[in-house]
Amino acid sequence: MGISEKVASYLEKGSWIRKMFEEGARLKAQFGEQNVYDFSLGNPPEEPPREFLEEIRSLLDRPGIHRYMPNAGFPEVREAVARSVAAESGLAVEAQHVVMTVGAGGALNVALKALLDPGEEVVLVAPFFVEYRFYVDNHGGESVVVSSSEDFSLDLEALARAINQRTKAVILNSPNNPTGVVYSEEQIRALGELLREKGKALGRDIYLLSDEPYRRLLYDGISFPHVFRHVDNAIIATSHSKDLALAGERIGYLVASPRCADLERLMAAMVFANRTLGFVNAPAMMQLAVASLQGVSIDIASYQRRRDRLYELLTGVGFQTMKPQGAFYLFPRSPIANDITFVQAAQRRHILVAPGTGFGCPGHFRIAYSVPMDMIERSVPAWEALAGEFGLKPL
Ligand code: PLP
Repeated sequence: MGISEKVASYLEKGSWIRKMFEEGARLKAQFGEQNVYDFSLGNPPEEPPREFLEEIRSLLDRPGIHRYMPNAGFPEVREAVARSVAAESGLAVEAQHVVMTVGAGGALNVALKALLDPGEEVVLVAPFFVEYRFYVDNHGGESVVVSSSEDFSLDLEALARAINQRTKAVILNSPNNPTGVVYSEEQIRALGELLREKGKALGRDIYLLSDEPYRRLLYDGISFPHVFRHVDNAIIATSHSKDLALAGERIGYLVASPRCADLERLMAAMVFANRTLGFVNAPAMMQLAVASLQGVSIDIASYQRRRDRLYELLTGVGFQTMKPQGAFYLFPRSPIANDITFVQAAQRRHILVAPGTGFGCPGHFRIAYSVPMDMIERSVPAWEALAGEFGLKPL
């Protein structure tokens, strides 16, 4: 066989994901897009904000912007990001603490390459974004999975038990994909203390990699605790894939807290990783376009309306789910233990959702409501029929 045995095994293990997508495509071809309710992907359906399109138009005539640049990105863009993070965190964040990256996915890979030696461990909190395990493996690390509490908040005792001599980092994602949970200020503070104490006891630096692409998608006026305020060795990985609906443009960034251990060498290592992973630098026009848009985002109120409608719909027919505080996902309990079987039953009703198993949390399923409102309305009879099939009763 030509390809790597490891990659072959990943393809095999993930083959049910491929089968699900193939089945979704088949349903759409057979019954028409209008009659399939696709809640499977977190892909914002709206156009980016008007301000972004204006920026891009004005850049078209600007000379000299398409060339190579410093690997960390344009200095003025890094400055704009630093100003915004400094204002939010209250810390003296500067341009030299920022690396512009190819999306949040690129940012996480760059940070992991900069941090990991072979066999070092990275703690993931389940449920987690599917790609984390692969990203950790890309750089020779080992993933250690810790479950969250019943209500999907952090289980700090379980986290404490998971940290040992080989731990290099914890990856946290808030607002969370797939649960929509925003970790509280108290939890982030406690996590900061835990990492500080463990680091001291073990005589090593343990980093928090805070994955925040949904940072601006917050509901009900909830505030977002800034990790830099509570965690010394914190690195933020994020992007404008969701808040500016630019997922295909691949623009994001890394920011290290000015309180990080070994800060200068950490930054040098991340710039080196950005270069040698072959990204070289983040897309030039996108960097320039987002520089002045750090305070801009898509219409959050319309996401909140979709969240409210779906929450009302699902609980109304008997599904058990928490109300998300951010991001654009719901993570209800599957009415049967086997979430893959449940997801297949949903497909037969033309509802496409993702099984919790894929996020390290079986017995649940994920609904992405980054979909048009009219699709939610069209899906109502299918949800009612699905709930009826599993004998659910309105709560
Ligand atoms: N992290 C989480 C939790 C995500 O949900 C996603 C994308 O869905 C990413 C990272 C990757 O984001 P990007 O498209 O900016 O690479």
